[in-house]
Amino acid sequence: MQHNIDVLISQAEIEKRIEELATEIKRDFNGESFTLVGILKGSVMFMVDLAKKLDCDIELDFMDISSYGAGKESSGVIQFLKDLEQPITGKNVLIVEDIVDTGRTLSHLIKHLKNQEPNILKVCTLLDKPERRVVEGIKIDYTGFVIPDKFVIGYGLDYDQKYRNLPYIGVVID
Ligand code: 5GP
Repeated sequence: MQHNIDVLISQAEIEKRIEELATEIKRDFNGESFTLVGILKGSVMFMVDLAKKLDCDIELDFMDISSYGAGKESSGVIQFLKDLEQPITGKNVLIVEDIVDTGRTLSHLIKHLKNQEPNILKVCTLLDKPERRVVEGIKIDYTGFVIPDKFVIGYGLDYDQKYRNLPYIGVVID
């Protein structure tokens, strides 16, 4: 099924913002090595593009968590489908998220990773929808774009597993 899609954030805007984020992140980690922890599958495009701009000592690891069922609605149930391959105890970690919506996924993830006692744990998200937040007090260290309460697709984000390959962030027009 094809949908009509409006561009919300263009490819050029994403590229520019990622350069700015990478500069900020590099400065903050100040030459120390760190691990990017990407959340499958939504954060893959962002993680890859961000990693390429971080010309410093980094490692990549992935977790898979499911929080959304098919369609647009959150199931509210978080399931860990794949854990990290490398231990992060004593390491510096940067969580790389596609979008923070209710905040449930991120708060579970932070709790899970903190149990492993990393040295530093920071959070970077491409998109933030603060109007939708249910879990209070989540600290996001780096945000690409704050967006309104709209269901977005593209650049890793799906609608029923489709549209992840769009090079921009779009909104489905019903
Ligand atoms: P949260 O737990 O913060 O409610 O949801 C986080 C996850 O829900 C994201 O990692 C993403 O997979 C999914 N999600 C939240 N909002 C959107 C959206 O607007 N579009 C898409 N495609 N996924 C979303």
